[in-house]
Amino acid sequence: MESSDTLQRRGLMFILSSPSGAGKTTISRMLLDADGEICLSVSVTTRPMRPGEIDGKDYIFVDQQAFDQMVEDDHFLEWASVFGHCYGTPKAQVKAGLREGQDFLFDIDWQGTQQLYQKLETDVVRVFLLPPSIDELRRRLTGRGTDSSDVIQARMDRARGEISHWDGYDYVVVNDDIQLCFAKVREILHAERMKRARQTGLIGFVRGLMRD
Ligand code: 5GP
Repeated sequence: MESSDTLQRRGLMFILSSPSGAGKTTISRMLLDADGEICLSVSVTTRPMRPGEIDGKDYIFVDQQAFDQMVEDDHFLEWASVFGHCYGTPKAQVKAGLREGQDFLFDIDWQGTQQLYQKLETDVVRVFLLPPSIDELRRRLTGRGTDSSDVIQARMDRARGEISHWDGYDYVVVNDDIQLCFAKVREILHAERMKRARQTGLIGFVRGLMRD
């Protein structure tokens, strides 16, 4: 008989998007560290590696030709051009994992979010993070004060462009305190896991409870 600790559920696709400067990378890391049931969907990108990044862990770094070939080979669940570079979500790992109950975290932009939602609506949970104010966003994007005002203005314009897609998400969390924001994002994840439609083992379990 099915017992509550053997209940099966389908994995979910937990998407975190935000303008840069809203804390998405930090919240993603905190979630991955704290929760053993979710793993990062590692994207493929054509952008150059940044200091400290690890190939295969942060991204799979490829050149444009290799990326184009992957598109042709139908390697991606979604892909998009973001600020002049290509980014894509590999298909194989995610599809197999979901069936086995593995949850995935996606750090992707609004274009990828739309594509995943169109393909796999019932598996997708869309979370958007916002900065607490435009002044705080400017402060976060100003960096160490070494960038020119043109560079900072370009970052602000990009951020505003990304914020304009906030209404394509299920949840919106304002990040004015990193710990609080993390707690809210975690609550969303926990609640989404308990959705009836995701708990594929419930029918047998409930039938067992109803038997005398
Ligand atoms: P960065 O180059 O700063 O790591 O990421 C730039 C933007 O690309 C971020 O908004 C990030 O969420 C997005 N991104 C990263 N991987 C993917 C992906 O596989 N697909 C899509 N659509 N966007 C991605």
